[in-house]
Amino acid sequence: ARRVVVVGAGMAGVQTAVALREQGFTGGVTLIGAEPHQPYDRPPLSKAVLLGKAEGSAFDVDFEALGIELQLGREALGLRPEDHELDTDSGPVPYDVLVAATGAEPIQLPGAEGVPGVHLLRTLDDAERLRPVLAQQHDIVVVGAGWIGAEFATAAREAGCAVTVVEAADRPLAGALPAEVAAPMTAWYGDSGARLLTHARVERIEPGAVVLDNGSRVPAGAVVVGIGARPATAWLVGSGIALGAHQEVLADNHLRTSLPDVYAVGDCASFPSGRYEARLLVHHWDNALQGPRTVAANIIGEAPAAYDPVPYFWSEQFGRFVQYVGHHATADATVWRGDPEGAAWTVCWLREGRLVALLAVGRPRDLAQGRKLIESGAPMNPELLADASRPLKAA
Ligand code: FAD
Repeated sequence: ARRVVVVGAGMAGVQTAVALREQGFTGGVTLIGAEPHQPYDRPPLSKAVLLGKAEGSAFDVDFEALGIELQLGREALGLRPEDHELDTDSGPVPYDVLVAATGAEPIQLPGAEGVPGVHLLRTLDDAERLRPVLAQQHDIVVVGAGWIGAEFATAAREAGCAVTVVEAADRPLAGALPAEVAAPMTAWYGDSGARLLTHARVERIEPGAVVLDNGSRVPAGAVVVGIGARPATAWLVGSGIALGAHQEVLADNHLRTSLPDVYAVGDCASFPSGRYEARLLVHHWDNALQGPRTVAANIIGEAPAAYDPVPYFWSEQFGRFVQYVGHHATADATVWRGDPEGAAWTVCWLREGRLVALLAVGRPRDLAQGRKLIESGAPMNPELLADASRPLKAA
């Protein structure tokens, strides 16, 4: 029987190993992960785990029963495709098929590496270091008003910390959402008691304070950096694998890479979307759940359909449940449902009269209905769509 080696024991790696067994693969499956912990889910790290409301978030998977060989605390260092061998910090591992699922790593603020009191939030270890910081109610400076920054600020406010969020752009989520959609979110910071400073950059970090580029000093018992993540693919450099502009693995529409018998899935890889006619690099949980099924089906030789998901993610911030589905880059019209000043509202993006993306705040039903309409590509009536009292329906 063939041997599949999965590198990276996060959501995408674990789901790949599980999907192989679910789809009847009887060969060897080895799951190699650099972190020493039992594989765990990341979204709770900025939510329940951070606040100590949950001890951990280990996946409920019986690896032994599934015949998945788990090798934790082992780091991949290189790949020699001509030998079909993976190099690790504890020696080489032969493979017939290899799956790269090493996810992403957070970007550090330049100059902040190793500075005491500066934190990132990606791993269970990070969350466990941050828990006592919250419990001690330090003054906290969050750098970056993105998804992670907003969720961390939410948790820190809930823990009773004074929170200042420093954002270089003119608004939160500037990289993810158009200005008019992010605008109502700006008020969420202040409403929760956090201070949001836009057009602000960190000049330097001193003991107990962050100095901004306008010269002002913000007290900081701790600094949390949430300025983005980049694909964790350093171990693949030199293997000959094709990498993209963000150093992500360039996968095809079956999540195959440029190397024979090597697949890539989850946060570490981009893939061409036929649906959106664009290459997508998705850093969200649902992609790490869906992609592995395509990878497993390919390995088994089932010739599955191309991987062409409607991307989905959620965020829990400032007491709100925010959900996004689709991809709005090519939209030509925007329709609002509900008052963006209010507690619940939805933005719909259309292209040639069809729904291509939707963001729902506290309207999970819109999300569920919208997802189906995006998938089916049904024509919409913008006037009916704008009536938030009617369910989302095709024209
Ligand atoms: P990862 O989860 O990053 O797993 C990759 C694993 O590979 C890691 O354990 C890493 O240690 C290991 N690895 C890396 N390099 C090597 C190597 N060389 N050798 C061996 N192992 C290696 N998404 C949402 O949609 N909604 C949310 O609310 C949400 N909340 C989040 C909150 C936080 C704090 C974080 C960090 C992410 C959140 N996400 C959320 C994003 C989501 O968690 C990721 O998209 C998902 O974890 C991606 O899974 P992955 O397996 O591709 O990568």
